[in-house]
Order: sequence, then C-alpha cells, then structure tokens
Amino acid sequence: MLSAPAVLTAQTAPVIIRAGRLIDGRGTVTENATIVVQQGAISRVDRGRAAGTVTYDLSHYSVLPGLIDGHAHLSWYFNRSGRYHTPNDGDTPVQSMLAMTGNAFATLTSGVTTIQSPGSPEDKDLRDFIATGPTPGPRILTSLQPISSPRLTPDSLREIVKRRKAEGADFIKIFASQSIRDGGALTLTQEQLDAICGEAKSQGLRTLVHAHSAESIKAATLAGCTQIEHGVFATDEVLRLMAERGTYFDPQCGLVFRNYLDNRAKYEGIGNYTEAGFAAMEKAIPLAVAAFKRARATPGLKIVWGTDAVAGAHGRNVEDLICRVQDGGQPPLEAITSATSLGAQALGLGTQIGTIAAGYQADLIAVDGDPSKDITALRRVVFVMKGGRVYRWDGLRPSNATEQERN
Ligand SMILES: [Zn+2]
Repeated sequence: MLSAPAVLTAQTAPVIIRAGRLIDGRGTVTENATIVVQQGAISRVDRGRAAGTVTYDLSHYSVLPGLIDGHAHLSWYFNRSGRYHTPNDGDTPVQSMLAMTGNAFATLTSGVTTIQSPGSPEDKDLRDFIATGPTPGPRILTSLQPISSPRLTPDSLREIVKRRKAEGADFIKIFASQSIRDGGALTLTQEQLDAICGEAKSQGLRTLVHAHSAESIKAATLAGCTQIEHGVFATDEVLRLMAERGTYFDPQCGLVFRNYLDNRAKYEGIGNYTEAGFAAMEKAIPLAVAAFKRARATPGLKIVWGTDAVAGAHGRNVEDLICRVQDGGQPPLEAITSATSLGAQALGLGTQIGTIAAGYQADLIAVDGDPSKDITALRRVVFVMKGGRVYRWDGLRPSNATEQERN
C-alpha cells in the first residue's frame, strides 16, 4: 500500500531513522545504525541503535541511498489507446505531461530518487517543478533535445552546445551510432564528435553518447566524451580504451529489450519498431549480457547504471540491476555501488548524493531483505525519502510521531 506522497514537509527538528542494516553506497554494510536527518540532509550516521525517540523505525529493513538511474526517458508512455505515444497521436502537451508525472511518481516510489534523462525538451518543466514545487518525482538531470544530425558542421555543432547550455541543459546527449534496430553503425565523424565534446567540456557540461558499434565507441572516447551509453558491440579493445581514458560506461543488461518485447503490440508498426527491429532486439539480449560481462572483466572500467527505461519500464528500473547480478554475474554490493555512489560521481554529484554519510542529501530508501546478498530485495521497497521528504512508507506509522510532524 502506498502512503500519500509528500505528507511531510522539510522539518527543522531532527528526524531519527533506525536502520536494521545500513548499506552506505560505497560498499560498506553495517548492522544496526542510526541516521539523523536535518533540513533535508544527513547530519549524522551512528553505529548501533539510537536511544530515545525514533521518527522512522526501519530496524526490520535494509537502508541504502536512493538509486540513481543514469538513463531513463520519463516522456515515453503508452497513450490511452494502449499504444506508444507519438507526437501525432492526438494527445495534447498537457496530457503528455500528466503521463510524464505518472512515470516520475512510479520511478520515485520504486526507489529511484535521481534520474538522468537523455533527450527530451519536455523534461525541463518537470525537472523544475519537482525541484522547487510540490510535484513528486526523482531529481532530474536532462540534456533537453539531443544532438544527432550528421549533416551539421563542427562550428554549428559547437553553437548547438552553447544554445543547449543557455536553454538550461544539465548535460549534452549525442547520437553517434544508429539504433540497435538499424544495426548500430557510426553516424558522426571524429571531427564532429571532437567539436561537440570539446565545446561541452569548455562549457562545463558532461557528454553522454549513444554508441553501439566499436567504431562509434572508439571515436566518442577519443573525442573526450564523458560517458558511453549502450555499447552492445563493444570490443575488448574499446573497453580498455574507455578504462584508460576514464570514460564511464553505461551498458544495459536486458530490461530495455525485454520491455519492448513484452509490450510488442504497443510499439509494433511505429517507426523502426518493425518485425526486423524486434528480431534485432531479441538477438541483442544475449549480446548485451555478454558485453556487460566483458565490461566487468576490463580492469579499471567505471560501469554505471542506466536502464534506458521507456514506456512500460518506469518503476521497474531495478530489474536491470537484478539482471546484472543474476545474468551478468555481478556481485550484488558492486551493483548497488554502481547505482549509488559511482552513479553520483558520473553525474558530477559525487559529494551530494549516492552515499549515506554526514553532509549528503537525505535520499534514503529501505527494502525488505538484504540486497547486498539477495539483489531481488530491491523489488521490495517500503520507504522512500528524497531530500529529507518522505514519499513512501508502507510500514506502520511510528507511534511517537506527533501530529505536527505528520502535517
Ligand atoms: Zn535512451
């Protein structure tokens, strides 16, 4: 059962949280800990059970940092005819935004407190309303409109980077290869990638590059881009190159493909969601798992977590972490670290979110079970706090919470 969102406003009195098990996001697990939250941030973390008044008794649960999904598309949804929403399906911008806020709520209450959205101009208002207003949703970083045109000159590409920054983009998203449904080959030249990632760096913006083929991954890495997305056809050579250059890698394990296949009737017949496109995605499932295993075997490669969640997958994001552990052989604690402190570092927020320690934002979730041993415990989220505000608490109300604290 979901409790009503945002029932608590940021409190000035300290909020005391008792954790049965604390997973700090950096690989340390502590049995019995107490977290003190004040004005939206963690002010103290103590070993052992706190004496005195406890605001949230999570002593039967594991508490970990809110998860960070480095790649999710909240603007993708199924319309009321049960089809994948496209710009000409008759939905108004307001209707689309309502669908997006639904996706944002599903994502947040599933334990994902921050997402990075590569490629939707609509994100901007949702990001800002979540950040400053009453709209419940994960913290959003957005690229606004992505850059994909192979016809633009390096100079005009640099201009687009500057324009995105002026429009309020948090980072730049680039398509450097085709979709997996079209083969994944390189679509931009080295010169074009150099221009985009070079200009972004001088503007203080990170760059996320959609790249499937080894050639496209190599070109983006040599251009100094920050992070490579997908990489289904990554070879050992380009994986090593990424590790050497410190380029973050965000491969998907299976949720994105399985979600398309599970929802085939809702996508089929639109754009490249053709019979051949679905066949390519079916083939990509074992390739993606193999690419993830090779990535993990590459010394020093920084593998972050991004699901590429689209319509049908919002709120099921953790399935891709479960896939990494169950099919990809990743130890659960390493998977959790990739989705918390390392994910935060990749976002440039490594000193603000993704870790349970004094001074960090109070983004905390609790799950039933021990996800450091059984990753499927992430499916059983019972508590979600973002920035000190509680958006989900399925357990019993703490008996000592005063009426004032509830309101
Ligand atoms: Zn995507």
